Amino acid sequence: MQRVIPKLLTWYSENYRQLPWRETQNPYHIWVSEIILQQTRVDQGLSYYYRFLDKFPEIHDLAHASEAEILKVWQGLGYYARARNMQKAAKMILSTFNGVFPLNYTEILQLPGVGNYTAAAIASFAFKLPVAAIDGNVKRVISRFIGIDTPIDKMAFLKSTQQYLNEQIPRTNPDIFNQAMIELGAMVCTPTQPKCLSCALLDECYAAREAKQNLYPVVAKKQKATNWTINYALVENAGEILLSKRESKGIWGGLHEFPQLSEKYPLEKEKKIAEFEHKLSHKNITAHLFKIDSDSHLSLENKDLVWVKLENINFFPMHKLMLKFVEYLGWK
Ligand code: SF4
Repeated sequence: MQRVIPKLLTWYSENYRQLPWRETQNPYHIWVSEIILQQTRVDQGLSYYYRFLDKFPEIHDLAHASEAEILKVWQGLGYYARARNMQKAAKMILSTFNGVFPLNYTEILQLPGVGNYTAAAIASFAFKLPVAAIDGNVKRVISRFIGIDTPIDKMAFLKSTQQYLNEQIPRTNPDIFNQAMIELGAMVCTPTQPKCLSCALLDECYAAREAKQNLYPVVAKKQKATNWTINYALVENAGEILLSKRESKGIWGGLHEFPQLSEKYPLEKEKKIAEFEHKLSHKNITAHLFKIDSDSHLSLENKDLVWVKLENINFFPMHKLMLKFVEYLGWK
């Protein structure tokens, strides 16, 4: 790989997209951008990045914010556990690292919600440490470049790739190398129809030489999605509606939604107001909303029931499925 690295770095310097987190060495800002980009595309991530830093400009602002404030800024991004983990990490930085963002890979890795990729990205972008940052884009590039038959979602793939790239990464500008690999995966070595003829790695790429680009990366069989039916209750009283705050742990943790009806509730007599399909990574959800007069048949699993004035409903952090109902009802 050493022979093509200079070409890769030159290609990056001439072609990179200017993004705010590429113009900073502030580890907090880089960390925020990386967590946001784990669940959204760059163009959508930009507005979340600005909003997040506007609301929580320093680590201590995030550490001292209420959970509702954080989830509100995060609303629509999904994977809310990540937002809550960010606050845990911010608190840990204050308590364990004296308010200073940890300066090396091993310490960064200790932060809640920070995995190998994110720790490597922060360590190299903020502190110029030579650790390869391997995201989905880099996995695809390297699997084609070398021709790796191990599925990319296996630990063995990550281990061998990390070792290989940690040896290859230039000591002088590891940050540029990591950015270049990620950008090449996003812009050139794309999932379908990679643009090999304009690729800086072409001269040494196994898949291009063998015309096997579409055979790599190898992917393990996907877990089948399960079906999930939810029956929500719209309980209204004098301009107020009942909301339930989900438990902090698990899916949609800490977010608000309509309370759910107990499984035994006889739905036949009730009026269905709306129905939505919603997909999560391993779940196909069908959600029904029924207008219910009394709250006596609500599931015991509904946590923290709260009466909310209709005009205040949008102050509560809600998940995307719930927002579909809110929008449908004209409350948004
Ligand atoms: S030459 Fe083609 S397959 Fe190989 S890394 Fe570049 S874009 Fe990907």
